[in-house]
Formats: sequence, C-alpha cells, structure tokens
Amino acid sequence: MEQNSINTKCVQAGYTPGNGEPRQIPIIQSTTFKYNTSEDMGKLFDLEASGYFYSRLQNPTCDFVAAKIAALEGGSAALLTCSGQSANFFALFNICECGSHIVASSSIYGGTFNLISVTLKKMGISVTFVPPTASEEELNAAFQDNTRAVFGETIANPALTVLDIEKFAKVAHAHGVPLIVDNTFPTPVNCRPIEWGADIVTHATTKYMDGHGATLGGVVVDSGNFDWMAHADKFPGLCTPDESYHGITYVTKFGNKAAFITKCTSQLMRDFGCMQSPQSAFILNLGLESLHVRMPRHVENGQAVAEFLHNHPKVVSVNYSGLPTDPYYELAKKYLPNGGCGVVSFELKGGRDAAMNFMKKLKLAAIETHVADARTCCLNPATSTHRQLTDEQLKAAGIPAGLVRYSCGLEDKEDLIADLKQALED
Ligand SMILES: *Cc1c(COP(=O)(O)O)cnc(C)c1O
Repeated sequence: MEQNSINTKCVQAGYTPGNGEPRQIPIIQSTTFKYNTSEDMGKLFDLEASGYFYSRLQNPTCDFVAAKIAALEGGSAALLTCSGQSANFFALFNICECGSHIVASSSIYGGTFNLISVTLKKMGISVTFVPPTASEEELNAAFQDNTRAVFGETIANPALTVLDIEKFAKVAHAHGVPLIVDNTFPTPVNCRPIEWGADIVTHATTKYMDGHGATLGGVVVDSGNFDWMAHADKFPGLCTPDESYHGITYVTKFGNKAAFITKCTSQLMRDFGCMQSPQSAFILNLGLESLHVRMPRHVENGQAVAEFLHNHPKVVSVNYSGLPTDPYYELAKKYLPNGGCGVVSFELKGGRDAAMNFMKKLKLAAIETHVADARTCCLNPATSTHRQLTDEQLKAAGIPAGLVRYSCGLEDKEDLIADLKQALED
C-alpha cells in the first residue's frame, strides 16, 4: 500500500480483508471485548500485548480508518477523535502541561484560538501568537525556555492565509520542539505537511474528509519523525516512566514511530474519552473513499467563483490563494500546486446590510456555520460567529462587516456563478 498513489490510498488503505471477510470495513458496535483469562486481559492493561478491551480507548473500526488517514498523510500512526476540537486538544496536551508554552499562528480557526488562549490558559499553558507571515527572526523571538510546540493551519479557517510550513518547521526544530499543523482545509489530497517538515498533523474530519456534513470527527496523525529522546528534558511524558502504566517509558517501549499516538491513546483517551464512535468512523470512511475525486471539484468551483467575484463591481476584495492577486499566491504555488480548497471569502461593498441582503437572495448557497462539504454554504461572520464585535473590533480582527465566507460544494460551477450573479443584482 505504501507505494500506491494518494488516489488508491483514499479507496483502499487501512483495511485489507482476509479470505471470506467483509469487503467493507465492519462496524464493530461493541463497547467491550471478551477474553478467556484474566492473565490475557492483564497483559493489555500493562500495554504488554496489543488488543482491544474497551471502546473508550480503542475500537477496530476506528483503527482501520485512522490507519487509512495515517497512510494518506504519510504518517506512522494516527488516532480518531470525536471532533476536530478534541484532535487539536489531544495533539497539544499530549506534550504540554501546566507551565508549558505554545507558539501559535494567530491565523487559526476561532475554536482553536479559544482552546489555546482561554481553556489551555486555565490549565497553566501559555501562548504567544505570531502572524502567519512572521519572519524567522520574529518567530525565534516568540520562543521561551518552556515552549513545547508550534501550531498553525495549512490554510486557515476562515482567513484563508497559507502557512509557510517549511519555515515554521525549521524554526520549531531549531528550538527542539515539534510543529503541529491542522491540515483540515487542503486535506492530504492537496497538501501533506509531513513532507514539508511538520511533525504532527490534525484534522477536523467533520469537513472535507467526511465531506457530506454527516458526522463530526477529528484525527491526530504522527509523522514518527520527531526525535523525542534528543529533547528528553522537554518531553518527560514521553521520555520518562509513566507511573499509571507500571513505569513504562513510551519512547523506549514503543519507539519514535508509535510513542506519541500510544501515549495519546493510553493516557488522554483513557482519561478524557473523546473517542469517535464506530458508526461515525464508518461514515467518515465512505467520505474518504471519494476524497481524491471530490477535492479537485471543490478547487475547480472555488477558483471559478473567486475569479467571477474578483471582477465584480460590488465586491471590494476576494481572499483565495488561487488568485494571482492574493498575497498567499506564491506560497500556494509551492504548497498547494493542485489548488487549496473550495472556500472563498470576499468583502461586499455596503457592509453587513449588503451581505445580509445578498445572502438572503442566494438560492443554492444555504446560510450555515458549517463549511467544506458537498453542498454550497455561506456565512457573514459579522452577523453570526462574530456578532458580539463592534465594527472597529471587526476591522482590527481583519473581518470587515461585509465579509462573506462562501464554501463551494460539488454543484456545477456555472450554476453557482449564475446564483451569485442574480444575488448581486440590485
Ligand atoms: C471546524 C474546524 C475545527 C474544529 O472541528 P470540529 O469538528 O468542529 O470540532 C478545527 N480546525 C479547523 C481548521 C476547522 O475548520
């Protein structure tokens, strides 16, 4: 499977049925698993044998799908979580603890921004936000002795900035910490951050991976490349004995390729239980089977819509890294040669009233908080997700009142453009 193209991996990686076994991934709808002896079960609890005992920690259906996503990203191991939020929480909290510090791009999903700046702060973890355009010098200046991770999004939701993954990875590694990249918007079909030096990759599988707006989920993928032992003083959780498992040391026992995900499963899943259900994992896998077919269409529609809006007199500006006028065009050429995603954002003349009127007139695009699925949808942050902010605060956050986030689905691009055209008419 290793040598197959991403297209074939989308369809077949992660699960290979034996003779007479189900062709489709079986949904193992069982909380628990049966053993013949207490000794057999004891070995699982000591992490001396691998196997399943309770679906709060691990379930075969979820593991098949996680293995597929690990193969797609070029990682060594992965685990599914019940949401994108829990995936990012796990990725960070697996190596950060009270007293740790994170360097994060300021251009990230609002939920992740809150997670890092409010909830992790309550746990004693501090953060320095840096602009995604920060120079190496600016990035270096953000590090502290207690920095344990760098975080960014390949294409940020909703700002649509593109992360210079190689630069962020280089600086993170110079400071002996891993780079964690949320790759939700491009998906591994359009970008594989590990190939550019990222150490851990996360996703809200809720978005394109499921792709049908059907089921929430997340995933954490480990590249297996980060040398934890070389920085053992920074990562005691991986490099010193875990008393809750009879003193095993994750890196020593499981090696660099498996230590991060094993610790994530055996500590964080055990204690927080943010497990994806086997039903959800099954639905996610149906989405993954067509991810490589769907992403090019999302990109084709995104590009066509961005070009149409760019030339429209009622549009102030368009954010889409596939437009030559976009500030992230050059980075996108490097990291996203086949295009990024189907999400476009643009500012309408006339502020929030113009945006609300325009959206009311759209027939194909539904008003939703969601993005990145088969059906086109849109949102005006100023009157929804960011409605508590004043016009001045919106401007400071880089979200003008007339901004519309428009997520191109899989419909025909000519129909989407005709719909936009009629909604922009007086
Ligand atoms: C939606 C999203 C999340 C959060 O995912 P949920 O499944 O809603 O918890 C995290 N990161 C990005 C980039 C997202 O778009």
